[in-house]
Amino acid sequence: MTPEIVLTHRFVCAIPEVLEERTVYVSIEFATAVHKCCCGCGREVVTPLSPMDWSLVFDGETVSLDPSVGNWNLPCRSHYWIRRNRVYWARGWSREQIEAGRTADARAKAEYYGPRATKTEPLGPQPPPTASEPAQPDGFWDRWKRWLFGA
Ligand SMILES: [Zn+2]
Repeated sequence: MTPEIVLTHRFVCAIPEVLEERTVYVSIEFATAVHKCCCGCGREVVTPLSPMDWSLVFDGETVSLDPSVGNWNLPCRSHYWIRRNRVYWARGWSREQIEAGRTADARAKAEYYGPRATKTEPLGPQPPPTASEPAQPDGFWDRWKRWLFGA
């Protein structure tokens, strides 16, 4: 059985160059949390904080990350939840589950950003340009009129 891991957290302005093990660094300014993979492999795990990425909950004493941290891009492929500074291990995801998760993620992102993208579309046909249009050079008829009527 995996021993329980207790993390500490640190609110920082910028993420430090060297990370300590079992520490979650939280940068509000950069809306990012970074920690070293909880399996002990030493890899850095970056979890951006946004409505479509991770949410961080700080209850005054501990931090929680939602959703779970799935490090399938790392050799260890560890997967765990960080809840109230404690690490809860999940069983390894199969390739199918990872792909399904990615597809769902992409779909969720499309739904999230979709309405925003359509808002920038023009609402209808653009009015014809008028005042800003450069004056047309005099045509033949204008010159003829001028000659006839002295206009
Ligand atoms: Zn790891």
